[in-house]
Amino acid sequence: MSDTVTGSGVAAALAEAIGVEKVFTDAETLAGRRHDYWVLSHVRDFRGAPGPTAACVVRPACAGDVQAILRLANATGTAVIPFGLGSGVVGGVLASPEAIVLDMGGMAAVRSIDPVNLLGTFDAGKNGLEAEQAVAEQGLTIGHWPQSIAVSSVGGWVATRASGQFSSAYGNIEDIVHSIEAVLPDGTLAVLGKGPRASAGPDLRQLMLGSEGTLGVITGVTVSLRRAPEARAVSAFEAPDMATGFTFQREVIQSGWRPPVARQYDERESARLDARATQCLVLMVHEGPAALVAAETAAIAELAGRMGVKTAPSEIVDHWLGHRNTVPHWNAFLERGIVLDTVEVSADWDKIGAIYDDATASLQAMPGCLAGSAHSSHLYRSGLNLYFTFAVRTDDHSQMEAIYLEGWKRIMQATDRHGGSLSHHHGIGRVRRDYMARELDAGGLKMLRAMKHALDPKGIMNPGVMIPDA
Ligand SMILES: Cc1cc2nc3c(=O)[nH]c(=O)nc-3n(C[C@H](O)[C@H](O)[C@H](O)COP(=O)(O)OP(=O)(O)OC[C@H]3O[C@@H](n4cnc5c(N)ncnc54)[C@H](O)[C@@H]3O)c2cc1C
Repeated sequence: MSDTVTGSGVAAALAEAIGVEKVFTDAETLAGRRHDYWVLSHVRDFRGAPGPTAACVVRPACAGDVQAILRLANATGTAVIPFGLGSGVVGGVLASPEAIVLDMGGMAAVRSIDPVNLLGTFDAGKNGLEAEQAVAEQGLTIGHWPQSIAVSSVGGWVATRASGQFSSAYGNIEDIVHSIEAVLPDGTLAVLGKGPRASAGPDLRQLMLGSEGTLGVITGVTVSLRRAPEARAVSAFEAPDMATGFTFQREVIQSGWRPPVARQYDERESARLDARATQCLVLMVHEGPAALVAAETAAIAELAGRMGVKTAPSEIVDHWLGHRNTVPHWNAFLERGIVLDTVEVSADWDKIGAIYDDATASLQAMPGCLAGSAHSSHLYRSGLNLYFTFAVRTDDHSQMEAIYLEGWKRIMQATDRHGGSLSHHHGIGRVRRDYMARELDAGGLKMLRAMKHALDPKGIMNPGVMIPDA
């Protein structure tokens, strides 16, 4: 509900520009848009020290509204914090008292579904699951299944370079996006991407992919669709150790097989997944034309046999499929004095084993550590990701923030020591910002800062996120 917005402040000017019904200054709306799903924001709330709220929340109804908002913000030097559906886990949304939170939830239309060219166009604020359901009605799929699909937006996927659970065949969001409509910080509308491929200078869509609200506001996204697969099969294996599992997965992908889902769990996570497991579970889902699915399933089973990787009960995969998006709320852990987070990185094949060993050993050495484990969930010809979970128990709640940052540091440092990439799909936000210099090196950081300065010279877009201070 919108309070009546009067006076001379930024909220009043916005109300004048786009309509008073789209500008909110009531305490409840401001509190609901204070932060995303970052654990550290939840720790601060839990400890009774929540951060500030914004000056106002605006809910644009169209790209024209977004243009008007950014023109006004640019003219007044007011910070703008884009908010998709708030499922980000790295602190990409954190309100500050002078800022405008730009809530994309009011832009949630299906613009078009084109079954001939296999394209679907959505407002950026469209809920991901609703977008998938809309195309499914026509026998199609986006093929992008982040665990957060029901609580994240299509524009948020682009802004964070998200990755879905079926990415090993269908690709990550950058492989699925066809074109992007965005408003630049000065209010200019840009439509990036035409046709299935172009050789027309640098691919400017990549500037928006992973921009985390720092280079503009994504207002519309066209994704490349697929026909729903004709057949699906599942397979499960148990490798004697992580190294054997990694070699098995490498053989699968480098032989030319592309199971959309390929996941490998260490012993601790395997036991959590299925009490019968004593080794490292490797789960796969195969999809596509029935003949391809049959051939892939048989070939991978044969490969496993040759490599000493045992078959495991396939109902473990069925169980994972049925429960894969069920996640407890952070507070369920904090109330028991447990600080927990998940951290994803990636690396080439020759580095992945060392990163797994180093990071899990380093996590397990933390005082009060309950869990320092990992699985992989995204498979590539040149390597894969690792998704670490750490859980540390403390009786001293004043230490929660320090413990949290220490867990992150141990994973970032172990990944950096062995030459991996410090983020696979959650993005940078605030939690990884200090590590960006390691990720990009001096040249990359110079390019990023130059782009930021050129597009957003006043630094109004999502300050404090992703780009480290010079
Ligand atoms: C339980 C859970 C599971 C998750 N699983 C996955 C997963 O499997 N794969 C994965 O990739 N991620 C996952 N995530 C992380 C998160 O869901 C993704 O990062 C998602 O893409 C964020 O979308 P959102 O709409 O919620 O964005 P928000 O959280 O609202 O915003 C994220 C960032 O993008 C910016 N932003 C959002 N919308 C726009 C826009 N329209 N224009 C410009 N900037 C914008 C924000 O300013 C912020 O910096 C998970 C999160 C949770 C809580």
